[in-house]
Amino acid sequence: MATCLVTGGAGFLGSHLCDELLRRGHRVICVDNLETGSLANIHHIRRPEFVHLNIDIITPYFVDEPVDFVYHLASPASPIDYLRLPLHTLKVGSHGTHHTLGLAKKHRARFLIASTSEVYGDPQEHPQRETYWGHVNPIGPRGVYDEAKRYAEALTMAYHRQQGVDTAIMRIFNTYGPRMRPHDGRAIPTFLRQALQDQPITVFGDGSQTRSFCFVSDLIRGMIALAESDIHHPVNIGNPREFTLLELAEAVIEITKSRSQIVHEQLPTDDPQVRRPDITLARELLGWEPQVELREGLRRTIEDAGVEALVGAPT
Ligand code: NAD
Repeated sequence: MATCLVTGGAGFLGSHLCDELLRRGHRVICVDNLETGSLANIHHIRRPEFVHLNIDIITPYFVDEPVDFVYHLASPASPIDYLRLPLHTLKVGSHGTHHTLGLAKKHRARFLIASTSEVYGDPQEHPQRETYWGHVNPIGPRGVYDEAKRYAEALTMAYHRQQGVDTAIMRIFNTYGPRMRPHDGRAIPTFLRQALQDQPITVFGDGSQTRSFCFVSDLIRGMIALAESDIHHPVNIGNPREFTLLELAEAVIEITKSRSQIVHEQLPTDDPQVRRPDITLARELLGWEPQVELREGLRRTIEDAGVEALVGAPT
């Protein structure tokens, strides 16, 4: 049994990670100040191997027991959050990552950072391999998230090279599943919420921009495999099947048997035109690839989350 510290453990991905680590027999320390997460995501976990510490990682923090793995997921992640919290987002990526790497160093723990495909920005290479350095607008509204993650990756490599910390960098591509927030602004929860209420589905631009969508159970399996490997360089984890936003909207309408019509809205600033991971490294080094295809994942999301949770309270 290992002790795993999960920052951001009360968030969407973090809470699924806590569940899976506990299922595999590990002890979990969840560090989360509930800035964008929720106690509702971990409410079901009632066992002695799990503890939640309400700590803001922007200030230095410590734990008093041995830690074997540190999964560093804490960060605003949805555009709606990092546009609302630009300075907080930069501080979590910088100070928060410093403090968490320092903790991993002190405990001689293996450290994994949840980085993002957004480090590639609006990519000039397609699909994106880990060797691609990205095309990011540092001063645009999304820059606070993209650059915080790029800084956090640089910091992670510096702790590895200079301080000998055992680190891993996971570049996560769009992930979906139960516990997404209905109003967090990302495409799948928005389309599901709209379709389940027969409301117009709002596609940005002409809908020809592409994304790749990974079901959460696939993602968490990849995350643990990377943490338990000895790899230090970045690894993409995501589903390489690529969809246009229009195709996604049509799949959602089909699965929900909705009467919704598709309407078009203005593209947000610096919205990437394409997004698809090259997962050769994950396949070769981890033996990992996604198993859940989009329509199956959408069905499971609706079944597991329930319509009420996906529709949410009116805003
Ligand atoms: P989320 O917002 O649901 O979870 C983030 C968690 O971090 C929340 O529970 C929040 O309360 C916590 N947090 C934020 N600031 C904190 C602070 N200062 N101190 C302590 N806790 C804090 O987001 P998510 O979708 O679960 O994303 C988790 C991680 O994965 C993020 O680092 C994100 O950048 C990365 N990621 C997610 C996706 C995706 O598709 N969901 C894609 C790429 C990368």
